[in-house]
Amino acid sequence: MLVLDGKIASAAVKASLLQKTDALKAAGKRTPHLAAILVGNNGASETYVASKVKNCDETGFGSSLIRFDNDVTEADLLAKIHALNEDKNVDGILVQLPLPKHIHDEKIIEAIHPNKDVDGFHPMNIGRMVQGMDTFIPATPYGVLLMLEYFKIETKGKHVVVIGRSNIVGRPMSILLSGDRPQGNASVTLCHRNTPKEETIKLAQQADILVVAVGIPNFVSAEMIKPGAVIIDVGITRVEDATAKKGFRIKGDVNYEAAIAKASAVTPVPGGVGLMTIAGLLMNTMKAYEGKF
Ligand code: NAD
Repeated sequence: MLVLDGKIASAAVKASLLQKTDALKAAGKRTPHLAAILVGNNGASETYVASKVKNCDETGFGSSLIRFDNDVTEADLLAKIHALNEDKNVDGILVQLPLPKHIHDEKIIEAIHPNKDVDGFHPMNIGRMVQGMDTFIPATPYGVLLMLEYFKIETKGKHVVVIGRSNIVGRPMSILLSGDRPQGNASVTLCHRNTPKEETIKLAQQADILVVAVGIPNFVSAEMIKPGAVIIDVGITRVEDATAKKGFRIKGDVNYEAAIAKASAVTPVPGGVGLMTIAGLLMNTMKAYEGKF
């Protein structure tokens, strides 16, 4: 059983990026710069953004963290995004989701210039991705592709079942893995909340590669895992636990013990896809800097 260790795979991605930024610095050039916008003080969002900024430092990227109070107006947020779009020293812009209810996510995402959309959420970039064109791939699915590449997991001709169809994980994942591309060419089945549970179980049992992004701890039980399957657990849920230092533990969507007993390869949570998401984001930021599309 192979543990698909996100620490190892993301370290390899970061080492190659660091080589590039070292070379840029040696040539007296500026390095890629990521601007992250954080609204409010959601604990999980704080942690994610802090980790993204720290990873920028470790890879020789510049970064700025722009904070707004929870009651910021949509107009003020849009004005900041427009200013960042114009800023020649900013290559990538990310707005940490979720946003407060009075702000329309879609309006904010569409305001980010497509060439700086390093989360890969802008409809133009999603359209390019669907067409198989060069673009920013949404960071989490991109991280999964980088993980599959690093551990040389064959996807061509395999049956992949993706559970979850969100715009940021499940849907782009299903499109990418079915595309004519490296880490693609699979036959993909997509399950979602309206797939009857018995059907999801039956389909999961046939999956050579099972990608799960539902946000329900232990959603995938032993019976859903085909012996020898590759299990990619995207789920991250904070579950209260008084015995834990922080008062909670991070849980994936897959019963990990069941997965290590039956699967050929599995991503741990934490320490799996979450770290690869940051690797995907950094790769996109370098791409934005290099202006490659
Ligand atoms: P979401 O809530 O937007 O989507 C959940 C999806 O699960 C929906 O498409 C829904 O149809 C499906 N679903 C819900 N109940 C189901 C059921 N009973 N059977 C089948 N499908 C069902 O969530 P999201 O943003 O895609 O995130 C999913 C999980 O992944 C969350 O735990 C989130 O925290 C995590 N996540 C992790 C990373 C990472 O970097 N590892 C990044 C993004 C999201």
